[in-house]
Amino acid sequence: MNLSDLEDKRIAIWGMGREGTTTLSFLERHFPDKDFLIINRDWPEDVRNFIPEDKIEEHMADFDVVIKSPGISYYHEMVGKMKDAGIIITSATNIWFALPRAGKVVAITGSNGKSTTSALLHHMLTELGEDAELGGNIGTPLLSLREDADIYVVELSSYQTCDLHYAPDIAVLLNLHPEHLQWHRTHEQYYHDKMNLLRCGAAANIVNAADPRLADTDNKTVFNDGDSINFEMGMIYDSYMPVGGSAKFPLLGDHNLENLCAALTICRKLGLVITECLRASYTYPGLRHRLQIVGPIDGITYVNDSISTDPEAAIAALKALAGKKITLIAGGEDRKQDYADLCALIDDSENVNAICAYETGPRLYGQITTERKHTAENLEDAVALAKSITPEGGYILLSPASPSYDAFNDFEERGDLFLQFAGV
Ligand code: ADP
Repeated sequence: MNLSDLEDKRIAIWGMGREGTTTLSFLERHFPDKDFLIINRDWPEDVRNFIPEDKIEEHMADFDVVIKSPGISYYHEMVGKMKDAGIIITSATNIWFALPRAGKVVAITGSNGKSTTSALLHHMLTELGEDAELGGNIGTPLLSLREDADIYVVELSSYQTCDLHYAPDIAVLLNLHPEHLQWHRTHEQYYHDKMNLLRCGAAANIVNAADPRLADTDNKTVFNDGDSINFEMGMIYDSYMPVGGSAKFPLLGDHNLENLCAALTICRKLGLVITECLRASYTYPGLRHRLQIVGPIDGITYVNDSISTDPEAAIAALKALAGKKITLIAGGEDRKQDYADLCALIDDSENVNAICAYETGPRLYGQITTERKHTAENLEDAVALAKSITPEGGYILLSPASPSYDAFNDFEERGDLFLQFAGV
């Protein structure tokens, strides 16, 4: 929605997290004489015109436009009621995309790898001397970005692509796995909402051709008339290795080579020299809590993969460290996930010891059949035990395969404590 269209409207901001707060200060800067309504679950500090979320219906005659935070489902019953009442539903993402700018916008979405690919691309661009900004779902609200950058790297979640009406210059879809059922209601709706990024009219759509859901021809029919470019991990070996190799790329795991391929494909579309981009990738420091490598300390390397909240992530982490002597610390909140494949992999991996803790600990311990299994009371005990059984040159890997909420505020707190107990 254009800023000029908002000028004569009565505006409500729904959701006062980091993004909502930024949206409020952005609008206050642009419309100093306007009052804004704030809809939130609880009364946020320093807010005057507050409507509690459960009283929206009584106040629907008080605003013309609502700027909805991404965490609130587009399929929330109140969204439907607002639409029926003629209220325009928009988002900070749409407002930012509609702003005039000279810089190019690269928008990246996917079920996994969004943050890694976005931060990696931003790192490469900056290393090459490009004036690039990074924002969106990665944590920096778009409306707080500098307005004069040459390139914007924008991470978008499915909550943000769902109702996006404006086109980036380059749209990127990394992969599609079933997720976020609560927000999207059905898996089909989730896929549809994520692929909406490809329907926006970008000049180029870059898509992972190896992803079975994206290779599907029905899905391809959503592409607009823009340039459609496929990438796949094999390109590392076929196209990119011959011009510089990936051996010095610091991130572990094939999934990260796939993210590197996506970033390089974007760089190529931006007209950059691939050998220079590859070289820039070698100094990428990585993101915290995502297979973050620390050490060695006293001969042991610590790997903080606290973001691993499902068995697939722990399997990916073990595969990324294949061949190393690993002590895996696993377990966390029980969301009734299926651990059969993870436990089978532990059974089959002679170099892996598993320490099981927290809510899912007993289930993991019960399903692992090898003797290479242990239990611990908590993370501190688990790290102490891991130190005592991991040989020199080995790896202590925190990849819990479960969410953190049974014992920690979030996965960041869990990962930070792991590193603290490690002695970092
Ligand atoms: P997102 O921002 O989409 O959540 P991240 O880059 O933060 O993704 O990575 C989160 C986790 O997802 C990683 O620790 C890893 O387990 C997994 N992952 C990352 N990239 C990929 C990929 N290309 N394919 C599959 N899984 C991936």
